[in-house]
Amino acid sequence: MKTKMPGIYLHIPFCDTKCIYCDFYSITNHSKKNEFLSAIKKEIAAQSAKLRDSSFDSVFFGGGTPSLLDKDDFTSIFDTLYNNYDISVNTEITIEANPGTLTKEKLEQFKQLPINRISFGVQSFIDEELNFLTRIHSSNEAINSIRAAQDAGFENINLDLIFALPGQTMESWKFNLERAVKLNTQHISAYSLIFEKGTALYSMMEKGSVSRADLDLEQEMYEYTMEYLTAKGYEQYEISNYAKPGKECRHNLKYWTLEEYISFGPSASSYIGDKRWTNVKNIGKYIDLIEEGKDAYDFIETIDKDTSITEHIMLGLRSRGIVFADFKDKHNIDFLNTYSSRVELLIEKGFAVKDNTKLSLTRKGYAVCDEIVASLF
Ligand code: SF4
Repeated sequence: MKTKMPGIYLHIPFCDTKCIYCDFYSITNHSKKNEFLSAIKKEIAAQSAKLRDSSFDSVFFGGGTPSLLDKDDFTSIFDTLYNNYDISVNTEITIEANPGTLTKEKLEQFKQLPINRISFGVQSFIDEELNFLTRIHSSNEAINSIRAAQDAGFENINLDLIFALPGQTMESWKFNLERAVKLNTQHISAYSLIFEKGTALYSMMEKGSVSRADLDLEQEMYEYTMEYLTAKGYEQYEISNYAKPGKECRHNLKYWTLEEYISFGPSASSYIGDKRWTNVKNIGKYIDLIEEGKDAYDFIETIDKDTSITEHIMLGLRSRGIVFADFKDKHNIDFLNTYSSRVELLIEKGFAVKDNTKLSLTRKGYAVCDEIVASLF
């Protein structure tokens, strides 16, 4: 009997330009696109034996910029996926899209594919902020792309925003949120800007040409975001993610609830059983390994019991909470008995609430989630 419902992730590494803050594996040279497409289809077919007994209910094309692919590219990938995996009828199928890469015609073509969710990397509705982030689109292009997707019939749309940009004011962040809500998408992700080592943004900070936003202001922006989006009918179901009822991202929930997923493409990570592996972060190496009939793994790790418990607590607190029955099932540990004093402390300070089934963070708790996880668990 097929019981598991894992997810499928495909990493499409091509972008038109490299954004200054981005630390995903992405390349601006598209000359290997056809070889890449051939390789990823071979990898999809070759890995299918690993999850023979599974049905899948989420597929996520991330990147990179999957919206750079055209309809025929997607069609051939979908053919390979459907020929090799048991993909359920109502599977959530997301593509990440850069608003600067989509036309009305392209969106109408995508609507003829099995794609039923689009996640737009908008980041800001203010052109100066977009320029700073080196995004290729303008605010108007983002608005037009989302409206065109809605007109084409897409009914499950996310938009990503970034706050705590250097020099950003509370007013400009409020403007971004208001603009986002006006577009009436089903889902909004709002992340604070991270200065990741190895990015152009990090070098700029080291050279002193930009500095991080003031921590108090960042906190104020985060608290306002939770309050504002909740008041506008979006439920916060993860520290940075908000959805209209029933429109939570099924695929991302799998990451946050430690469900299994299999992934394809350079730099993509998979998690099956107690093993997690990551593919090489180099398109040439990736293509060569696949063409030689090998796995494209860069490294494999075994998730031991302690790591699994820590991840369960951390991811649970960051999203919908720690469900006691799930915790017992997975680790054979009674969560409340084991962590009683820490749980009581969180509740006493107003950081968490508990009912008979689970412990979850309050808004106050979300705001200091990382500190809670680090200090208590
Ligand atoms: S478009 Fe997305 S993946 Fe590509 S460089 Fe920018 S942030 Fe990174």
